Amino acid sequence: MSTPPLASGPQGPCGLRPLLDTVLDALHTGARARGGPLPAGGPDTVTARIRDAVGDVLPDRGDPDALRTLVHAFAEGAADPAHPLCAAHLHCPPLALAAAADLAATALNPSLDSWDQAPAASALEALVTRALAREAGHADGLVTTGGTESNQLALLLAREAHGGSVRLVHGANAHHSLPRAAWLLGLPEPVVVPAPAGTLDPVALDDLLTQLPGPHLVAATAGTTDAGLIDPLPEIAARCAAHGARLHIDAAYGGPLLFSDRHRPRLAGLDAAHSVTLDLHKLGWQPVPAGLLTVRDPDDLAALRHRADYLNADDDTEAGLPDLLGRSLRTTRRADVLKLAVTLKTLGRTGLGALVDQVCAHAQEFAALVHDDPRLDLHDRPVISTVLFRPADATDTAVAALRRHLLTTGRAVLGRARADGRLWLKATLLNPATRHDALADLITLVHQAHAEGPR
Ligand SMILES: *Cc1c(COP(=O)(O)O)cnc(C)c1O
Repeated sequence: MSTPPLASGPQGPCGLRPLLDTVLDALHTGARARGGPLPAGGPDTVTARIRDAVGDVLPDRGDPDALRTLVHAFAEGAADPAHPLCAAHLHCPPLALAAAADLAATALNPSLDSWDQAPAASALEALVTRALAREAGHADGLVTTGGTESNQLALLLAREAHGGSVRLVHGANAHHSLPRAAWLLGLPEPVVVPAPAGTLDPVALDDLLTQLPGPHLVAATAGTTDAGLIDPLPEIAARCAAHGARLHIDAAYGGPLLFSDRHRPRLAGLDAAHSVTLDLHKLGWQPVPAGLLTVRDPDDLAALRHRADYLNADDDTEAGLPDLLGRSLRTTRRADVLKLAVTLKTLGRTGLGALVDQVCAHAQEFAALVHDDPRLDLHDRPVISTVLFRPADATDTAVAALRRHLLTTGRAVLGRARADGRLWLKATLLNPATRHDALADLITLVHQAHAEGPR
């Protein structure tokens, strides 16, 4: 048997082109076979179909049609965030542009743990991370796999700056990855600040910082996962400064509001944080992963310095080879920066800002439809692009059942969130191409599913 074609090298594109045709065809046929936002039938049906498509996972003799068969099945069985009725999570439809750029990163396969594996990729990463950090009013940044890793790094940097007794103080609305990172890093038990209106209460924070012995790391949120709310950042920053507490802002969701002239002012105070989490695989329309941690003081990153002779020997570094190992806790690391760089440069701030404005406008429009429907309750006007709503006469059990009914019949993907002691349906609108009709359809589907299901 001849060697299968390789993706890179002068002949790489020739080997890739026919395979890409197969992939693109199978994406098309798979999406058509699905027909909706996700496959109908629920987990058993999807699992059975995948089992049939795969057959023997590792057959003795290979199957030349595996690419077509598996990509088709993968697409048919996908929850497709580009479908306007797929709106549950911070799960964005990636831009074709970003996916195409990511293919180049995959084909060339640079690895960002040493310069000799990633000469251009490392130079590009340095430029892009600093430019994105400057958007947040910061000096430098690291590429991460997402908000979870960024939050872990933020806690690690706080521990290295203040010692192992640093205590995480976070809002009741904070992402679960923050207390988990404290557990991972062996930090003291985190303290939770009440968030009675969905955002961290700065007065309660002040009381806690007064009572609790330090050092403290306060984590605020710009764009809560459940409701898209933004904590009062300037007040929180002022209280942290007054108490000498370190501040981390988790802007995994809300960060890209920075690109929009209209919405940017909502992030006032972001630059006061010592570190900021940003996720461009949420409001940035990137394929997963595309995370960032930015830092105000670039010297904070010195804590991550690490030596491995085969990757960054002292004499190599002294001779001018960039030392990359301290830019992550990972070793082998793919060039997620290429898709980011291509997206930022192609769309520009204006283009990205327009996408942000569009999804925020869709959320306002959807909330208005809910508000005008007497059979629905609206939790609140959206701040970013999340709308919580529910049938006015439904119990929590019925809301949960209705959501599952929409999922298993393959009609719509909505999320769920608990707020004010009740369970809500959550629409996270991240698709800039969604039209008014689709928003109205979502409401019709909710009424239908509610009528069909238990109350
Ligand atoms: C999504 C999210 C995270 C986690 O990010 P991942 O990219 O899923 O690891 C952290 N914080 C907030 C506020 C989020 O919305």
